[in-house]
Amino acid sequence: MSARIIDGKAFAASLRTRVGRFAADFAAAAGRPAGLAVVLVGEDPASSVYVRSKERASVQANIAGSVHRLPATTTQDELLALVARLNADSGVDGILVQLPLPPQINTQAIIAAIDPNKDVDGFHPVNAGRLASGLHGFVPCTPLGCLMLLKDQLGSLSGLEAVVVGRSNIVGKPMAQLLLAESCTVTIAHSRTRDLPATVRRADIVVAAVGVPELIRGDWIRPGAIVIDVGINRIDLPDGGTKLVGDVAFDEAVEIAGAITPVPGGVGPMTIAVLLRNTIVAAHRNAGVALEKGAL
Ligand code: NAD
Repeated sequence: MSARIIDGKAFAASLRTRVGRFAADFAAAAGRPAGLAVVLVGEDPASSVYVRSKERASVQANIAGSVHRLPATTTQDELLALVARLNADSGVDGILVQLPLPPQINTQAIIAAIDPNKDVDGFHPVNAGRLASGLHGFVPCTPLGCLMLLKDQLGSLSGLEAVVVGRSNIVGKPMAQLLLAESCTVTIAHSRTRDLPATVRRADIVVAAVGVPELIRGDWIRPGAIVIDVGINRIDLPDGGTKLVGDVAFDEAVEIAGAITPVPGGVGPMTIAVLLRNTIVAAHRNAGVALEKGAL
């Protein structure tokens, strides 16, 4: 039997449309548009592509996006000074510093300098703590996007066995916290996990966030499980071309799973849509404009 393919692209497009409507209403109520400031240090090609997509998506969603492009030689103090200016700017609701940063800059120091109420990436330790404590805060975009897809597929997640493979601060750990908050029984697996296939076989929900192409094989998947593949890996093909693949061997897993996200077109498009969503939530909070509970 072949799994349902979870169409993250379509889900993200509808979320972006909804965000756009809320952004237009916000601008009318607040007398200014919601503002998202994106900071790019250096010219990493992948980061430049991400930043351009974020800029385009902001405009389409009626959000005033500004991009601050700094040279690769920028010092930590110069970047801290820019973050301080953006923190103080009342037209900026969300601040995103594109990672990775050049080696002379301490990434944690920069993240910690962002006002937690403008931290739409959800990486600030205050927001990580709020998530772990079940308090309102900003949740990292990729795992929140995964949770939205899961809830759309399953409705309630209560009591399900969830295995998250990967324990990064950006994906694995916040993903596990979100699943715990939905009353899943959560296992976090990682590079030191003793028997990864057996661990994954227990799962009703598998979230793969590893960065190893097609690590998770079809026969690791419990029949009918929901598989969310966060991995984005470019691999070389024998004909000299390249191809994007996930952390799950899709062709094998699709025969066993109940539903699965493809790569590309699964989790990837959700990240920017959730970033825009977080920005609109931030704008309402920062301007004291009410946002209907659960609206986004
Ligand atoms: P990371 O390198 O920070 O973390 C990877 C995690 O995987 C680590 O916790 C490590 O313990 C674990 N791991 C590594 N090798 C393993 C193995 N052999 N077995 C079990 N666990 C292993 O990566 P990340 O930032 O969390 O990203 C993970 C993947 O998700 C990457 O492919 C990345 O490109 C992708 N990603 C996609 C999006 C998106 O928008 N779709 C966003 C962020 C990351």
